[in-house]
Amino acid sequence: MASTPQQSHNTAVDELRAELGGELIAPGDPGYDEARHVWFRGIDRRPAAIARVAGADDVARVVRRARESRLELAVRSGGHSRAGHGTSDGGLVIDLSELKSLEIDADGGTAWVGTGLTAGEYTIATGERGLATGLGDTGSVGIGGITLAGGIGFLLRKYGLTIDDLLTAEVVTADGEVVTASEESEPDLFWAIRGGESNFGVATRFRLRLHEISEIVGGMLVLPATPEVITGFLEAAEAAPDELSTIANVTLAPPMPFIPEEAHGNPIVMGLMAYVGPTDEGKGVIAPFRALAEPIADMVRPMRYPELYEGPEHEVGFGAGTNFFADSLEPAGPEAILEWLPKSTAMMKAVQLRVLGGALERVPNDATAFAHRDRRLFVNIQAMYMDGAETATHAAWVAGLADALGEDGAGGYVGFLGDEDEATIRAAYPGPTWARLRELKRRYDPDNLLRLNHNIPPAEG
Ligand SMILES: Cc1cc2nc3c(=O)[nH]c(=O)nc-3n(C[C@H](O)[C@H](O)[C@H](O)COP(=O)(O)OP(=O)(O)OC[C@H]3O[C@@H](n4cnc5c(N)ncnc54)[C@H](O)[C@@H]3O)c2cc1C
Repeated sequence: MASTPQQSHNTAVDELRAELGGELIAPGDPGYDEARHVWFRGIDRRPAAIARVAGADDVARVVRRARESRLELAVRSGGHSRAGHGTSDGGLVIDLSELKSLEIDADGGTAWVGTGLTAGEYTIATGERGLATGLGDTGSVGIGGITLAGGIGFLLRKYGLTIDDLLTAEVVTADGEVVTASEESEPDLFWAIRGGESNFGVATRFRLRLHEISEIVGGMLVLPATPEVITGFLEAAEAAPDELSTIANVTLAPPMPFIPEEAHGNPIVMGLMAYVGPTDEGKGVIAPFRALAEPIADMVRPMRYPELYEGPEHEVGFGAGTNFFADSLEPAGPEAILEWLPKSTAMMKAVQLRVLGGALERVPNDATAFAHRDRRLFVNIQAMYMDGAETATHAAWVAGLADALGEDGAGGYVGFLGDEDEATIRAAYPGPTWARLRELKRRYDPDNLLRLNHNIPPAEG
């Protein structure tokens, strides 16, 4: 008698358990409930099994089992996908979080890093040697996910995206082969993974370039948000040398201890700054920002680079958001942000403005699958909340504010996108990028096994 799909799924899980070097966690196993969850805690899916892989060979085993058994396959590094792409209902999850190897070649200025490390773990460990690679603004984000999305972070204008420091990747392809991708080996694959997320394979190790960075001038400058302050902040960031990268979070002041009580709930710019240059010059570079208004809090100071990752993180249920690249904020943009922020009932809401340029734009747009390098500004609207029943409300707020900001439809950054339609994903890969990615998807994953991501459908024909 032929086995039912459920029986063959159970067999696949049992066989995987027997052959895996790492741990397999299935329903009923201790730790299953914790292991099935991702960073957005509200996402409530029940995989058939979570494979805490021990290396590339384990990844290949899970890929093959998923293919044979037709189980959905999810890949997770740090679990920060807003769409919950790192988990699955009824499928297999490749959980890379145990892959925390780190081999630093300080003389060569590179490191081999397991993709289970988080941005914070990596930065703290390399920081002990006075070395760093640019990652994002949050320590718990996985190095696997942020790198394959692109990586817009604190060293953006000085050293570019994280992918601009990616030299080599060990990748398990959708047919279970372990390959090396670099400019010399599998160059097409190497192009595609630098922005193409998990569409082309599962990355188990990266070789990243390291920069000598010990002390920086950095931290948070909190200013009252008025249209003049928002505009002035962006102008100052644009005028600053490449050594300074900034992230301006325009939000309503949360009740945090460093913000005086009388300011709670007021519109503020939480400006995150990282000046990677001589400390004595940093003060002069930050001065134009400090001059914009009497700061509500000024925590910008000489510090060790990893200190940027030391802030607390809060538990979040769900996120709604959108993002886009632009050349500038529309003249009425600052007013629109200030008008819309109080309309949101989300626990956390912000419009994040990141001035681009510098090293980012010195790499040609067609050099990697991330192809927004000629734009000047990144605008990221996010709302985070605990109750999934509120999703439509927060999504409507995000869409309304994006409209008010004149989102030009030029496309966004996959790293911050959620569960999107094909038109939105396509717009994230502008110009000839989309067609080339589709061709390469046909070559590397013609059956679209790796589809729990911002999916690039294989080219037809
Ligand atoms: C609070 C927060 C702050 C953020 N800040 C920044 C920021 O400053 N800059 C920035 O650029 N981005 C930022 N992001 C976006 C973040 O980089 C992306 O969401 C990224 O994909 C998360 O990676 P992850 O490994 O933590 O997530 P996961 O959910 O594990 O993975 C995300 C996606 O990448 C795939 N993936 C993960 N690891 C691998 C791998 N090793 N091989 C193949 N595919 C893989 C997954 O399948 C999934 O599709 C932030 C996100 C959050 C939630």
